[in-house]
Amino acid sequence: MNPLCSRCTTCGLYQQATNYVWGQGNEKSRVVFIGEAPGKEEDLRGLPFCGRSGALLDQLFAEIGLKREAVRITNTIRCRPPENRIDDRYVDCCEDFLCQELGLCRPQVIVTLGATASTWLQNRTQCEALGKVATVSRIQGQAYEIMTLLGRMIWIPMYHPAAALRDPARVNDMHNTFQILHDFLCRLGKLPMPV
Ligand code: SF4
Repeated sequence: MNPLCSRCTTCGLYQQATNYVWGQGNEKSRVVFIGEAPGKEEDLRGLPFCGRSGALLDQLFAEIGLKREAVRITNTIRCRPPENRIDDRYVDCCEDFLCQELGLCRPQVIVTLGATASTWLQNRTQCEALGKVATVSRIQGQAYEIMTLLGRMIWIPMYHPAAALRDPARVNDMHNTFQILHDFLCRLGKLPMPV
């Protein structure tokens, strides 16, 4: 638990949250997954992606030989919003924690899961291939080279696992995007090359 986060009262979401949910996994990992905000299960347990969405993510990790503990998994917002409704205000208030976390990792690859994290990153970076704000459905499933304050990195936007659980076609898209991630990680030496 980040000590600063555990005292944060900036946006008021803390008042209804059971737990602050900080990132999990290797805090120096060069591969970072960013989700949206804690859901019911995450709020209760104080861990990111520990419910049904987390189970899908674990399955996708296993398929490409990636260990959850080897990467960093975090959220854009640290406290559960009422009825899981995201407001840009919460994103703005909470982004210092995310920036702090990314500053520790200095990622080579960022995977954004869903619209909240994808929009956040898109608004704070330069990506010539994308131009103006684009929806997740248009940009997911591809890898983009982006320039950030932390340097050049690869960005792979995907659907949020919760959205995929509501639509099997999106699960297929996530499988395909994980293969793209797998190929990048092989090239970066983060995974063994397939034989
Ligand atoms: S959501 Fe973020 S900014 Fe708002 S109270 Fe929780 S930790 Fe603080």
